[in-house]
Amino acid sequence: MSERVACVTGASRGIGREIAKQFAAGGIQVIVASNEEENNHKVVAEITEAGGRAVAQFLDLTQPDQIKDAFKQMIEAAGRIDILVNNAGITKDALAARMKKDAWDLVLQINLTGAFLCAQAVMPVMMKARWGRIVNIASVVGQMGNVGQANYVSSKAGIIGLTKALARELAARNITVNAVAPGFIETDMTKVLPEQVREAMLQQIPLKRMGQPADVAAAVRFLASDEAAYITGQVIGVNGGMYM
Ligand code: NAP
Repeated sequence: MSERVACVTGASRGIGREIAKQFAAGGIQVIVASNEEENNHKVVAEITEAGGRAVAQFLDLTQPDQIKDAFKQMIEAAGRIDILVNNAGITKDALAARMKKDAWDLVLQINLTGAFLCAQAVMPVMMKARWGRIVNIASVVGQMGNVGQANYVSSKAGIIGLTKALARELAARNITVNAVAPGFIETDMTKVLPEQVREAMLQQIPLKRMGQPADVAAAVRFLASDEAAYITGQVIGVNGGMYM
């Protein structure tokens, strides 16, 4: 894996940061991409201090042209991208009856359209190399639904559909496409939830704890490895048993 280059979107924080760190610890050269340059650089510094190889890349998933330019720059600089992790994602919760169209559009734009455009941008180099790994970060709520998250749930169910469609299209070129569907993971995204909601969520988790970014990163690392060569179009739940 040591010659491989991975781009992890939303790697400035949370799950993406941990995926980037685990890749780098395994010798993979990592591109830390998000729309928060200062945080990207902080993660790059952490990785390089630990002896890994990483570079930062500004990437704004709300801007299709910027996505194209960013991937052009990344591929020119690194010469390749072998692994893409579509991890960046946001929530903008509201009950469906009151959800503003702006909140719907933004979540779909970043979580689903953004992931599609990133995948599209790496396909030519992966096809040429006849090797590639795309890992999309979905969510348990994309599999089971959730109140107050019609936009987010739709984006994550969409990511699962996108994963299967791309898996079928790209298999002949030895590119696998899989999704990891995390449950309730301790990051900034879940920090904002009120204590009562957290308690209620914990009641639904057979393993009786929140997941850690490292739990998700381990599954991503496996799917991105040579060992996972015969796995494509799958959704791996990392949810403490919350959904079976
Ligand atoms: P997080 O801590 O909120 O981090 C989100 C990441 O996405 C940040 O790096 C953020 O960059 C990036 N991002 C947001 N908007 C962006 C944009 N317009 N362009 C580029 N990057 C953007 O979230 P997390 O909890 O680690 O979640 C990571 C993924 O796991 C998401 O897809 C999320 O839906 C999924 N997930 C999380 C949980 C959970 O319980 N935490 C559960 C299931 C699924 P900035 O630093 O620039 O804001």
